Amino acid sequence: MEEKPKERANLIITCMDRRLNEALEARVQTEMSNTGIQTIVLRNAGGDVSNLKDSIREAFSHYDINEARVAAHNDCGAMKDIANRKQGKAEKDQERDMTAMKYVAKNPEDLCKENLAVQQKTLTELVASLSPSTKVIADSLDVLHMPQANGERKAAIILDSTERLHTNYSELASVLHTDTNNVYVIQYMGMDNLLSDISFVPKVLGVKDITIFSTEKTRTKATELFEAINRQAFAPEINLKMMELVQQPATQQRRIKLKG
Ligand SMILES: [Zn+2]
Repeated sequence: MEEKPKERANLIITCMDRRLNEALEARVQTEMSNTGIQTIVLRNAGGDVSNLKDSIREAFSHYDINEARVAAHNDCGAMKDIANRKQGKAEKDQERDMTAMKYVAKNPEDLCKENLAVQQKTLTELVASLSPSTKVIADSLDVLHMPQANGERKAAIILDSTERLHTNYSELASVLHTDTNNVYVIQYMGMDNLLSDISFVPKVLGVKDITIFSTEKTRTKATELFEAINRQAFAPEINLKMMELVQQPATQQRRIKLKG
């Protein structure tokens, strides 16, 4: 029996920052229309590769990854938080305190530059063990000229299957009745523990409206996550919802079905 060849895909690991949404969506669509290659996007606080290792392994197990890219950016909230931790100005958080120890720089600007190098190194080592032929690329995005939030900021946690990944952030935002530029996006496969990244949303960003988007495949994980978030100390302060993304086979377009 011959093994079915894996579909080719690109991988981007980047930050949850809402200002990246439009640029990412455009990049994924351009890549798809120019080359026919889809892009898997994984996002957390600061684009931290080490917190997304299981999701990255999962992507490599299902796809022939052509290029794996880390995209850091300037004015990063996660790096400001690390600067605050180094100066003893942030609320204690074991995981984020451990993350802060990986960095040498003290001010947010230098930390953003250091972050790109830290993530590139971690991803290069991981990719070498998974698929030596995959190219690793490091990118720094300038978000200072990107649109500012306009209205209430919200957060989306996308727990995606490896079938067809959701990067239609403008559609996601419209389901949340807001603009694309208002939505922080945490996006992963569901195996990694991102509770620390998720707690960053209400505790550091002050965003209280959080929606978990799942697919049929990630429904169980989404329910487990919903319950885990509800056990956190910050749970009474937030408005947590769940929604399921459904695929329309005729158009191959993802549509969002409201649940409950
Ligand atoms: Zn950031």
